[in-house]
Amino acid sequence: MDAMAAGDKFLVCPPRFYRIEYVINPWMEGNIGRTDLDAAMRQWEGLRSELGARAALEVVEHVAGLPDMPFTANAGLVHDGIFVPARFRFPQRQPEVAHFAEWFRRARHRVVELPGQVTFEGEGDALFQPGERLVWGGYGVRTSLLAHRHLADLLDVEVVPLRLVDERFYHLDTCFCPLPGGRVVYYPEAFDRASHETIVARVGAEKRFAVDATDALNFACNAVVTGGAFITNFAGAALRERLGDWGYEVVVCPLSQFILAGGAAKCLVLHLVHRGGARPAAAPHAGNGVRERLVEVQGHLLDTGLMNAMLDCITEGGGGFEIEAFQPGFRHDQGSLARVRVVAPSADRLEDVLGRLVQMGARVAEAETDARLEPVVRAGVAPRDFYSTTIFPTDVRVDATWVRATRQRMDAVLVVEGAPGAPRVTCCLLRDLAVGDRVVCGIEGVRTHPTHVARPHERFGFMSAAVSSERRVELVVKRIAWEMRRVRERRGKIVVVAGPVVIHTGGGPHLARLVRRGYVQALIGGNGLAAHDIEQALFGTSLGVDLKRGINVQGGHRNHLQAINLVRACGGIARAVEAELLHGGVMYECVKNHVPFALAGSIRDDGPLPETQMDLVAAQAEYARLIDGADMILMLASMLHAIGVGNMTPAGVRLICVDISPAVVTKLADRGSVESTGIVTDVGLFLNLLVAALVAE
Ligand code: NAD
Repeated sequence: MDAMAAGDKFLVCPPRFYRIEYVINPWMEGNIGRTDLDAAMRQWEGLRSELGARAALEVVEHVAGLPDMPFTANAGLVHDGIFVPARFRFPQRQPEVAHFAEWFRRARHRVVELPGQVTFEGEGDALFQPGERLVWGGYGVRTSLLAHRHLADLLDVEVVPLRLVDERFYHLDTCFCPLPGGRVVYYPEAFDRASHETIVARVGAEKRFAVDATDALNFACNAVVTGGAFITNFAGAALRERLGDWGYEVVVCPLSQFILAGGAAKCLVLHLVHRGGARPAAAPHAGNGVRERLVEVQGHLLDTGLMNAMLDCITEGGGGFEIEAFQPGFRHDQGSLARVRVVAPSADRLEDVLGRLVQMGARVAEAETDARLEPVVRAGVAPRDFYSTTIFPTDVRVDATWVRATRQRMDAVLVVEGAPGAPRVTCCLLRDLAVGDRVVCGIEGVRTHPTHVARPHERFGFMSAAVSSERRVELVVKRIAWEMRRVRERRGKIVVVAGPVVIHTGGGPHLARLVRRGYVQALIGGNGLAAHDIEQALFGTSLGVDLKRGINVQGGHRNHLQAINLVRACGGIARAVEAELLHGGVMYECVKNHVPFALAGSIRDDGPLPETQMDLVAAQAEYARLIDGADMILMLASMLHAIGVGNMTPAGVRLICVDISPAVVTKLADRGSVESTGIVTDVGLFLNLLVAALVAE
């Protein structure tokens, strides 16, 4: 067994005025006034006698009106004669601080406050690994990440931040217990994935024990480890066995009265001594993974919801923030300016969060630097930390000048070319990277100009509108018809992306009419669209269903194969039109009206038709060529092709997405572009209304 901690000293507070008066954690919910003071006192005395048999105890008197004061673990953190007082998140506990600070002053400790406005809930979120200069730092529910950065500097210890993600385990000591010899007992589900990986990486398998939910919810991890004992409210059989193997005596002290408020053994105790934590004179300064950068963002931060979106992005990325300055726009047309200090538990995670913030339009607020360029060493493979593009206009700083990227699209990398003094920046697909290409890496020297971030109520509108009412669709369609007319009048470009459902729902003749009337400058789809359109033109069926009568035609299931076969026999769709085999339909109108089309292959294609491009890389290139210069793209009931096209399309192109599934519509609207309109409806109905609106002009 490891050397047991000897000579431990704890601060405790007899719970003279203990009761539940407010709710600041999920355990307290429904428990106001439900504690029994006599029972609580008996349980606390039980704990005190077990502790007193093994360690020295100091007592701080309970102050009336501060019911949570017996949870001394949250008073602050003690190390080397320094007391760092807590800065409680909730106002209900804030008055405790003065009383604890006073006690420590009298006990001849130096009381040192953490700088700034950070929240810090003492040893509850800062647990020393016994015998090491290492503090495990909980954050995410109560304590802020920045507090751990300050703590590491102040105490000259290494702090490993761990993010808590379950409000029931609101302090680290409710789900994590470090033991001498580098061991830990913990509840994995209380942490985010990255933090769990950190624990696994730092503590060998034989030195860590993951408790189950029963242990965790009975506060098994909230234990005091002293004098060879593991003092806890509860320990299940497996935990007992492991602790036995490690040489510990398991001492159970029932603390149900305190669990009503969300605390047990460890919460009722504050370490006054941490042994083995002193730094040898020659040792280097302890490491600290927490990193921070200042970012700045300008624009309509409040009304567009961008500010919320950015702060959520930081928190979801495992980071924290402090808003250093915020200058709101005072009029509707004025933008706001925010300076935000972004903190993350490691350099990698900071880079990750910053990358996403830059994509949302933020920029690093420090002195501007050129973008970092790394060469491609293997064709088709980008350097590890390449910057990935969005649909929004992007600038790259090269030789102290901002250069606008061309061929803007999503999910590409930025390649810098050109002679010194005349740099060019292009969005380039991974597969097109050649050895020696210089790729922008990291977020330094990159800025984006988001034209719009979808407002929360806009997104909600999409999701809540299961199927738009016919009347509503009619109104939206009228507006779209008006826009299409304007594009046509100025000889602009409308691209239609369509799936075979367009044909099955009877939308084919309407789409054909749009082509004939000059409302379609390019058509994009797959084999299915063309196959069923031609099937309908030749046999009046789509997937064997007679579209006029709405019934299955006998033997009709082979009609689409027959159609494909006939076109293959002619050598292609254009040839079938020339040979006067094909007399109508969407594809016929495209050929007759010289409207270019691209059909991309898929795994489920029959045939395929000769024009269907089964080489997907070539198909993507054909799509990109047809989309280039588009003013408007109508996406009609094809998840596969619509999303593919959406990724290639830069901001600024008007997107209309029509699909019966709200999820597909939302996915496209999530580009965050003001130019997209989603309509959840039957595509046949939509086309019918659209043609009627255009004809009624
Ligand atoms: P998809 O799943 O990508 O898209 C179909 C979309 O239509 C879905 O988003 C769905 O919600 C929507 N939808 C369904 N009913 C609707 C309605 N009444 N109104 C509005 N929206 C509706 O599938 P896809 O684009 O149809 O096909 C995927 C691939 O399979 C394509 O490449 C296509 O060419 C191919 N395919 C080939 C054949 C063939 O060769 N015989 C047949 C069908 C599909």
